[in-house]
Amino acid sequence: MEQITLPDHAWPTLKPGWVWLCGAGPGDPGLLTLHAVNALRQADVVIYDALVQEDILQWAPQAEHIYAGKRGGKPSAKQRDISLRLVDLARAGKRVLRLKGGDPFVFGRGGEEAQTLVQHGIPIRIIPGISAGIGGLAYAGIPVTHRDVNQSVTFVTGHDQSGQTPGSLDWASISKGSQVIVIYMGMKHIAQIAGHLLNAGRPASEPVAVVTTATTDDQTVLETTLGTIVDDIDKAQLEPPAIICVGQSVLMRHVLDWQGMSAGQPPRNLDPLGRGRPAESA
Ligand code: SAH
Repeated sequence: MEQITLPDHAWPTLKPGWVWLCGAGPGDPGLLTLHAVNALRQADVVIYDALVQEDILQWAPQAEHIYAGKRGGKPSAKQRDISLRLVDLARAGKRVLRLKGGDPFVFGRGGEEAQTLVQHGIPIRIIPGISAGIGGLAYAGIPVTHRDVNQSVTFVTGHDQSGQTPGSLDWASISKGSQVIVIYMGMKHIAQIAGHLLNAGRPASEPVAVVTTATTDDQTVLETTLGTIVDDIDKAQLEPPAIICVGQSVLMRHVLDWQGMSAGQPPRNLDPLGRGRPAESA
């Protein structure tokens, strides 16, 4: 691959014995940060998750690549084993890059790994990444906040450590308090989640988008509603990873589907929220 020169800046050095915990973004390599590229260039070892697009590893041809994910039929690595592996590699004097999908601190167990490293006296650096719940929706033409729709957004996980819908989540409060709800890891328990939201009074007609493998060449976007999501996911045979967005902001895709527009499809509705004012007015 052609070398890309990083802009002039005092880029930090990944030193032997250090671990940098780095977000790789949702998929498109263009969404890596410059700090991530700087880290990929210097690493001796890259330990990466299932959600990291393998293309991204080409940015670290000099490094050993170790898979530590849980998908794709490859054997799963236990969280504690991964953390201790990082400790061992750092102690062996390697420059270690721990690469995680999206942002390492958003539903990514980055906090746990970082804590274990610090507890073992390993020096760390954290490199944030673009989280799927923000960047993935942007690639689908859905703004995660939009002034006409929401003044807050709630990010929730669809399952907890035990693999169940998180019992600790107060779905009624989330339904009431948040106009837009972005659900990570929601596919397995989508029937229960949609049920909770409907029971809490969200209308069956509420727009929902399901974005799978967002920002990659395989990205798909399903537009549906809370009442029909279960059947529609089933019919479309959608598979994780998927980000599910519940709320009126999903309608903005009718005017902001920039990928569709680049492929020649005209916008479906220039004013999907019916506000009737030009976008530039105050
Ligand atoms: N740290 C990651 C999230 C890890 S949890 C981040 O910040 O994005 C794993 C979940 O993230 C998946 O089940 C899915 O809900 C979501 N996800 C991650 N990458 C995705 C992608 N490219 N497309 C759709 N969903 C994605």
